[in-house]
Amino acid sequence: MYMRYFSRLFSAMAGPRPVVLSGPSGAGKSTLLKKLMKEYDSVFGFSVSHTTRKPRPGEVNGKDYHYVTREAMQAAIDGDEFIENAEFSGNLYGTSKAAVQDVQAKNLICILDIDMQGVRNIKRTDLNPIYISIQPPSMDVLEKRLRDRNTECEESLQKRLNIAKVDMELSKEPGMFDVVIINDHLDVAYVQLKETLLQEINSVKKISASS
Ligand code: ADP
Ligand code: 5GP
Repeated sequence: MYMRYFSRLFSAMAGPRPVVLSGPSGAGKSTLLKKLMKEYDSVFGFSVSHTTRKPRPGEVNGKDYHYVTREAMQAAIDGDEFIENAEFSGNLYGTSKAAVQDVQAKNLICILDIDMQGVRNIKRTDLNPIYISIQPPSMDVLEKRLRDRNTECEESLQKRLNIAKVDMELSKEPGMFDVVIINDHLDVAYVQLKETLLQEINSVKKISASS
């Protein structure tokens, strides 16, 4: 009920349509979205999620995630501060209402990087984003990317690969995503992502040029 109320509020406030990027861990979501935010820094804004996982080297609190304890996160969930939240590979992740509002208040296209549970939960709201799935060319490539990234211990890596197998099947469900991009060659995948978002990018540029 509350979820619907707040998401209606978001759509009412809404400027440009938000974008959801989902896909297996290691598929290249962060790489693609960082490229996009760099090229179009006045068009896109990242919805900074909360997580209970530890920061990786180079990640910045408040920029990549808000890193919080499980107790703090649970209290915020109980306090109805989140649009959606999920448990992924032993940690909590969630999109706060404030994270989306902060971006929408600046009239930017809000990008959410969320897992499949998040996709399902967002579909129950009125946020009405464009759903884009980023997929690896194969499980072998996915495993190699995760290993080469060097951020996961063996246990976390195996958990992520197991989740990926299930989620890659679930994401084939008709209507789940508007666009599926296979991230084989990064430059090709990036062009496909830009083409998918071109209409939205142009409408934001037009609005900022006229204001
Ligand atoms: P995700 O955010 O989906 O978990 P990342 O963006 O962290 O994935 O990418 C996982 C790893 O794969 C990173 O080390 C990244 O540099 C690398 N990577 C991403 N896209 C490609 C690609 N097209 N070809 C080769 N390596 C890639
Ligand atoms: P990572 O630990 O690799 O940064 O993220 C693990 C998974 O959690 C990824 O699939 C990512 O998309 C997802 N994720 C990140 N933030 C959120 C969030 O706010 N909500 C949900 N549901 N998933 C998230």
